Amino acid sequence: TDALVEIKGLKTHFFTDEGTVRAVNGVDFVIPRGKTLCVVGESGSGKSITARSILQLVDAPGRIVAGEILYHRRRKDRCQGSRDGEVETLNITKMDPRGKEIRRIRGKDIAMIFQEPMTSLSPVHTIGNQIMEAILLHLPVDKQGARERAVEVLRRVGIPKPETRLGAYPFQLSGGMRQRAMIAMALACEPDLLIADEPTTALDVTTQANILDLIRELQQDLGMSVMFITHDLGVVAEIADDVVVMYLGTVAERGDVDAIFHDPKHPYTRALLRSVPKMGLGARDRLDSIRGMVPHPFARPSGCPFHTRCDSFMPGTCDRLVPPRERIAEDRDVYCLLYSDIEKVREAQGGVAR
Ligand code: SF4
Ligand code: MG
Repeated sequence: TDALVEIKGLKTHFFTDEGTVRAVNGVDFVIPRGKTLCVVGESGSGKSITARSILQLVDAPGRIVAGEILYHRRRKDRCQGSRDGEVETLNITKMDPRGKEIRRIRGKDIAMIFQEPMTSLSPVHTIGNQIMEAILLHLPVDKQGARERAVEVLRRVGIPKPETRLGAYPFQLSGGMRQRAMIAMALACEPDLLIADEPTTALDVTTQANILDLIRELQQDLGMSVMFITHDLGVVAEIADDVVVMYLGTVAERGDVDAIFHDPKHPYTRALLRSVPKMGLGARDRLDSIRGMVPHPFARPSGCPFHTRCDSFMPGTCDRLVPPRERIAEDRDVYCLLYSDIEKVREAQGGVAR
C-alpha cells in the first residue's frame, strides 16, 4: 500500500479524577493514498479519538501517551521549478498541538468534517466569508481569487447558484445544504486527507445517500484520501475501499472491504455483521445482536478486550493474553488468539495479563 498516514502503536489516554480511560490503547493502521478507509465500531471504540489524534485535537484531560503518526506528504507546490511528487515524512506526534506546524496542516493538508456542521461553521459569518477566509489563510491568492475559488467549491459540492449563496448565513440553509457548505469549506484547499466523523448520521436517508455519493465522487475526482468514521455497516458497504474494525480502543481486524464483509475473521466482526438487519427485515427482526455490554471505560477487561462478550472465549487464555497482530494475508491483520500460536504468545507475554 502507498501510505499517506501511518499510525503506529498509538495510545491516547484520558486522565480523570476517577481513573485513566485508555480510549485508544495501541492502534496500528495505514490510511492509503487516494482511497477511502472506513473505521467502524460501536461508540466508545476510540474511533473519534484516533481521528482527533491525527490532527493533535485531543482535549484535556486527554493526551497522546505513546506511538507515532507519520504523514507522508507529497510536495505539490504551486510555484514553478519545484520537483513534483517528492515525498517528505512529517511526525505529527512530535508537533506542538498549539504550534504553527500542525495549524498549517489542519485545513490545508488534512481537513475534518463532523456530524454537526455548526462544529466547523460559524453562525455569525456568511458562508462565503468563511470559505474565503480558509482559502486566503492557506493558498497564494488575492481576495478576488479566493472569491472565485469559493464559488467553484460551492458549485462542486452541488449547491445551486453558488454566487448567490456566498452572502447566506448557515441558518438560512437546510441541513443537507449546511452539510455541503461544511464539505466545501473542508475541500477549499484541496486537502490530501478528508477525515469525516459520522457526517451523515443526523441526516434523513435520502440526504445521507446524496452526501455519501458526493464524498465518493470528490474522493475519486480529487484523488484525495478519505478516513470515514461510522458505526453503520451499510455506510461502510457503500463507500469503503479498506476497513478497520475497532473495539475498546484497539483494532480487532483490518482488510479490504470484500475481505471484511465476505471473510470476516474476528469474532467481533462476525457478531457485528450478524447484527445487521437482513434485507426486508425490520430492525425488530434482527436475528442476533452482540451479547453482553461494552465494558465500562474504567473496567477494561484483561487480555483480549472482547473476551467478556466473545462466543469463542478460551478461559485462561483470552483473559490473560493480549492478542498480538497476526498478518494473515497481504494488508490483512487480525488480533485474535484463534489465529495465534498461543504457546509462543504465552512465552512472549510471560503468561501475565497486561
Ligand atoms: Fe474471542 Fe479469544 Fe479471539 Fe478475543 S482472543 S476475540 S476472546 S477468541
Ligand atoms: Mg464518535
